[in-house]
Amino acid sequence: MIARRKLLKFGAVALGTGVVSQVIDSSTKKATAKETLIALEQLDQNSTSDQVLEELIAGNKRFVENRSEAPNQNYIRLQEVSTGQKPLVSILSCADSRVPIEIIFDRGIGDLFVVRDAGNIATPEEIGSLEFGTAILGSKVLMVIGHEKCGAVKAALEGKPLPGQIGSIVAAIQPAIDRTSKNDSEEFYVETIKQNVMLQVKNLYASPLLYELVEAGKLKIVGAYYSLKTGEVTLLS
Ligand SMILES: [Zn+2]
Repeated sequence: MIARRKLLKFGAVALGTGVVSQVIDSSTKKATAKETLIALEQLDQNSTSDQVLEELIAGNKRFVENRSEAPNQNYIRLQEVSTGQKPLVSILSCADSRVPIEIIFDRGIGDLFVVRDAGNIATPEEIGSLEFGTAILGSKVLMVIGHEKCGAVKAALEGKPLPGQIGSIVAAIQPAIDRTSKNDSEEFYVETIKQNVMLQVKNLYASPLLYELVEAGKLKIVGAYYSLKTGEVTLLS
């Protein structure tokens, strides 16, 4: 167990060279020969957004195939990043307890700058947080991720009165509902969840700071959908 921990640490600090992946492959039968476990923090500002996104999705593939390596999820990693963070991915996700971002992307401490609220809505505080994650901390990818069976979207579709300030969440989702084809089908529910993701992506593009980063080629904003049944994350944009 100790040896395995050391190997994962090694993989996390030495970038996914062929040598590293071979070492990891020889240490665990679960990893495939072709797999290269690259720590996001080892990609730098010269890496393209596409490269970073590719590594993010590769982590989800490991999770879905039950091959999670749980990189950077230990005390040593915490000490490594205690003096500063450079998360190359910022994510806006729903607060739903079934959407634990680091787990579904097989990542750890210091890898992802995650903003979560019910309905993955991009309201001023969330946009400000994500501007910080990208413009200040340097994330190359900004992902809005919606998920199957989202209760916030369901509440928006039902349109019933809600207690407290829950209604503010529903109000932010309302524009995503296509009134002309609204129905009670599962398909429409899924489609609205995806439309809500794209609505929030649009809200992020409306931030001059984020838009400038995109125009300068420093940032890629993407929408995604997470299946609770399979664990798979599918890109929408
Ligand atoms: Zn949700």
